[in-house]
Amino acid sequence: MVTKRLLILLPIFLSCVLGFPKKVRIAGLFDQDKAIQRMFESSINTVNVERNENKELSNVFFESESTVIETDLFEVSTKVCELLKTGIVGIFGPQEKVTAEYVQSMCDTMEVPHISVRQDPGEPLQPRGLSLNLYPHVSALSRIYDQLVTEFKWKSFAILYENTDSLIRMHPLLKRCDSQGDSAFMFHLGEGPNYRQAIQDIKRSEIENIIIDCSYDILSEVLKQAQQVGILSEKHKVIVTSLDLQTLDLQPYQYSGVNFTGLRLIDPEDPIVQQTLDKHKNEWGLDDPSELQVEHALMYDAVQLFARAFKQLKDATKGNIKKLPCDGSDRWEHGLSFSNFMRSTETRGLTGLVKFDRDGVRSNIQLDVVRLTENGLIKIGVWNSTTGKNIEWISETNTKKSDIELSLQNQTFTVLIALTDPYGMEKESSTTLSGNERYEGFGIDIIDRISQILGFNYTLQVESSTGAKNNRTGKWSGMLGKIINDEADLAITDLTITSQREEAVDFTNPFMNLGISILYRKPTKTPPSLFSFLSPFSSDVWSYLIGVYIIVSLLLFVIGRLCPAEWNNPYPCVEEAEELENQFTFKNAFWFAIGAIMQQGSEIAPIGISTRMMASCWWFFCLIMVSSYTANLAAFLTVETVVSPFDNVEELAKKKNIKYGAKLNGATFNFFKNFANSKDSDYSTYKEMYNYMIANEKDVMPETNDLGLAKVKTEEYAFLMESSSIEYTIERECNMTQIGGLLDEKGYGIAIKKYSPYRHHLNTALLKLSESGIITELKKKWWQEKRGGGKCRENGGTSSAEELGLNNVGGVFLVLTVGVALSCVYTIFELLLDVGRTSIRENVSFKEELMNELKFIMKCSSSKPTRRRNGTSSKSEDNSTRGCTPPYGFIPTVITTSPTDDK
Ligand code: GLU
Repeated sequence: MVTKRLLILLPIFLSCVLGFPKKVRIAGLFDQDKAIQRMFESSINTVNVERNENKELSNVFFESESTVIETDLFEVSTKVCELLKTGIVGIFGPQEKVTAEYVQSMCDTMEVPHISVRQDPGEPLQPRGLSLNLYPHVSALSRIYDQLVTEFKWKSFAILYENTDSLIRMHPLLKRCDSQGDSAFMFHLGEGPNYRQAIQDIKRSEIENIIIDCSYDILSEVLKQAQQVGILSEKHKVIVTSLDLQTLDLQPYQYSGVNFTGLRLIDPEDPIVQQTLDKHKNEWGLDDPSELQVEHALMYDAVQLFARAFKQLKDATKGNIKKLPCDGSDRWEHGLSFSNFMRSTETRGLTGLVKFDRDGVRSNIQLDVVRLTENGLIKIGVWNSTTGKNIEWISETNTKKSDIELSLQNQTFTVLIALTDPYGMEKESSTTLSGNERYEGFGIDIIDRISQILGFNYTLQVESSTGAKNNRTGKWSGMLGKIINDEADLAITDLTITSQREEAVDFTNPFMNLGISILYRKPTKTPPSLFSFLSPFSSDVWSYLIGVYIIVSLLLFVIGRLCPAEWNNPYPCVEEAEELENQFTFKNAFWFAIGAIMQQGSEIAPIGISTRMMASCWWFFCLIMVSSYTANLAAFLTVETVVSPFDNVEELAKKKNIKYGAKLNGATFNFFKNFANSKDSDYSTYKEMYNYMIANEKDVMPETNDLGLAKVKTEEYAFLMESSSIEYTIERECNMTQIGGLLDEKGYGIAIKKYSPYRHHLNTALLKLSESGIITELKKKWWQEKRGGGKCRENGGTSSAEELGLNNVGGVFLVLTVGVALSCVYTIFELLLDVGRTSIRENVSFKEELMNELKFIMKCSSSKPTRRRNGTSSKSEDNSTRGCTPPYGFIPTVITTSPTDDK
C-alpha cells in the first residue's frame, strides 16, 4: 500500500523538483476554416524549430492538438473535457461566437489559459478570467472610424450594417448625432444574398458618404452589388470597416472613381511580414503578403506570444502540467500566472506590435489608412491606438505614383521580336496557336516579366531584321526603323547596343553581356607522331637535359682527376706500384652519367667523397627526371591531342584555306567596319578581315546566325559570332566550338523610341529582374535546358596532358647544380690537403707540389707515377698502403697456416 502511494507521489514530486516536462501540449479548436488551423500548426512548428536558437523561447517542445469542432455545445464540451483530461497548457479558438464563449467559460473554471483571435463586439473592456483576445478591441476600432469621419468632415453619412454587432462598433458615430448635430442614417443589409434593397435605399436617399460595416464573408458580394446599384461612383465617398479589405480583389472598383477608404492591420511592406511569408509561402499557399487575412495572422502571432510567455513562466516557476478531469474540482495552479505572463509579454509579429495594456486589451495597435487608386490600395495615413488621437497623413506626393507609371499600366505595347534562337522562337505545338501564345524564348520571357512588374500589356510582332541605316537616305530599316517610325514600341532580340544605333533609338541597360568570338568546328585529332616519345618534356627541358648531362660528365672527369682518392693502384697485389690509375677517364665519365639516366648503372663506382657527392646528386636528378618522364608519357598515351588550324583571330586572318565572315549588317560586322577607316596600325588584322569580308560578301556574309552555322558545318568556314550565341550553339552542336577569347565587350538591350519616358521604368524593372536572379535563371532555362540544351555536356570534362616545362622540373636542376658545386668545392679542399701532405712528406714546397699536381692534371694522362722519397718506397717510410690499396680500401689479408698449427 505504501509503495503504491509512493509510486503515485513520485512523478508529482519529480515534476515539482524538475519543472515542466520537455514536451507540452497545446490545443486548437477550429470551425471549418482550414487556413486558421494551418496557421496555428505552422506557428507551433516554427516555435519548435527555432526553440534552441531563439533566446526568447524555451527549449520545450510544443505538441499541437488540433481539433475540428461542430457548433453542438455538448460535443464541444466533451472534446474540451477530453483535452483537459490529458493535460494541456492552453486552448486556442474556436472562432464561432457561441462555442468560443462556451470554451472560454470552461477554461476559466479550470484556470487554463484561453486564447482567441476573433472580433467580438460584445467583449467587455476588462476581459474576464484567463482569456486573452489578440483581435483589436471594438473600442479601439470605433475610435478610428469616428476619427476618420471627423477628418473627412462628413456631416451626414449612411451606415450600411449587417447585424447588431455593427451598432456596437458604430456607437461613437451614432453619438455624433446628438453632440455635433451630424446626421447618421442606418441601412440594414438584410438577410442576403441579395443586399440590393438596402443599397438602393442609400442611392435614393442621395447620401454620398457611406460606411460599409459587414463581415468579411459577405463583403465581396456587398461591394459587387453596391457597384451594380451605382453607389461606388465618382461622387461617392466610402469607408469600409473590415480590416481584411486588402485581401479582396478590388480591381473592378479601381477605375470607378469612387473615393474608397479602408483600414488594414497587416502592412504588406513590413519586413517581418515579408520574411515570415517567404518562409511559409508554399505551406500557406499565399503569393503576396496582402493576401494574408487578419484572423489568420493573429493566430500565428498568438502562438508566438504564447511560446514566449511560456518561457517566462518556465523560468519563473518549477511548475508542472496537470490532468484536469471535468467532473473534479481541480484547477491548474499555474494558469493564472501564465495568463499574466502573456499579458505582460511583448512581441513583434505579422500584426505589428503584440502588446497588452493593464486591462488585458491589445494596445499600441497600428492601423494603416488605405485608399483605393488606379494602382491598387495605397497607404495614405497611419493611426496608433495608444500614442495619438489623430491620423498621421502621408503626404500625397509620396503616395501618388508618377503619371508615367499610371499611363504605363493601361498601355498595350507592340513588341518586336526576331525569330533568332533562343531570343524568340515559334512554339512547338500540336494545336494552332494565336496571338502572343505563338512565340516563346528568352527575350519574350524577359518582356513578360517586365510587363508583370510595370503592369502593361503587349502584342508580339515578328520582324526578322534588326535594321541598318541607309547611308544615302539616312533612314533605318528593320526593327529600328519601325521603332523610329512609331510602328512599334519596343524591340527585344539579340540586339546589340552600339553607338550608331544609340543615335537613332534609346536602349535600356544591357540585360546580357557578351563579346565577339569565333565559331568553328571542333579541332581534329592529331595523327600519331613518330617522335611522340619526346612529348612529355618541352624542348627546353630536353636541351637543358642534354646540356646538364655533358656538364656533369665533364665535371666528373675533372673532379675524378682532382680527387686524390680516385687514383688507385691498378694491380693491388703489386705492393709498390709504379703508376696509379684513375677510373674517371673521359670516356668512363660520360658512360657513368648515361648509365644513370638510362637507369642501368655501370661498372664504375666513385670512391672519393667529392665524386660520390656528385654521383649522388646526379642519380637523384636522374631519378626525378625519369619518374616525371614516365608519368607524363602515360598521360600522353591515354589522352587524345587535338590540333586546331588556328587559335585566335590573327591566325585565322592568315589562313588562306579557311573562309570567315559575320552576320550581314550585324553588330559583329560593324565592329570590323569601324576599323576600316582607322589609322591605327594595331588593328591592321581587323582592317584586313573587313576588306576580305567586303570583297567576298556574297560568299561569307550569311543573313542569319543559322545560315552561318550551316556554313561552318559544311564548308571550311569560321563564323565570327557573339559569344552568347556561340554558347547557345555549342550546347547543342557537339562538333562545334568557340575558338579564341572575346574581341570586345558589349551588351544586348531593349530598344525603345528616342527620349521615351518609359526608359527609366524599363531599366528599373530590368534591374529588379537581374537582382532577383531571374535573368540568370532564364538564361539557364533557354541555354542549357530547353530545346536540346545540355546535349554536349554529357561526355564530361575533357582530359588533357601537357608537356612538362622548365617551371615543372626546374627544382631538380637546381638541386643538381648545388650538389655539383658542393662536390667541386670539396674536391679542391681534398686536393689541397693531399698536396699539403705530399709536400711535407716529400720535403718540397707546397707551391711546387701544387704546380706539379696541376701540370699533371692538365696533361690528361690516364696514369700517374707514384711518388718516392730518396729512392725508398713510400710504404717502408710511412707504412702507407695508399699506393697499393685496391678500390674501396679493401686490403686482402693473407693468412698462412703452418703445419704445426694443425697439430
Ligand atoms: N547582335 C547582332 C546585332 O544586333 C547580330 C549578330 C551579330 O552581328 O553577330 O546586330
